[in-house]
Amino acid sequence: MTRRIRRCPWCRTELPRAAPARQRFCGSVCRKRAWRHRRRRDLLIGRAAAVILGDTPVGAGRCEQCDGIISIRKRADSRFCSPACRTRAWRERLGAPREPSR
Ligand SMILES: [Zn+2]
Ligand SMILES: [Zn+2]
Repeated sequence: MTRRIRRCPWCRTELPRAAPARQRFCGSVCRKRAWRHRRRRDLLIGRAAAVILGDTPVGAGRCEQCDGIISIRKRADSRFCSPACRTRAWRERLGAPREPSR
């Protein structure tokens, strides 16, 4: 068993030796405050991460139709730089003569 003094991570008050191992804060007030603080921080981090992930193209970045660069503001799964290119690609696929099967 370690005998080192533990402190409340919120107000740095020393915890009593008799405090159970799972007790981290000196009291419910600090525990609640820290919990609220962490929850708020997690929310902010989550929002920032969503923005970063949404703005970052994964893998792609080139239009399949005109080989143009897809804007980083587009979703990561977009394959074309613009709706026009997407429509053109669809038309070509639908209207293209079928390869003769051998
Ligand atoms: Zn405390
Ligand atoms: Zn394009």
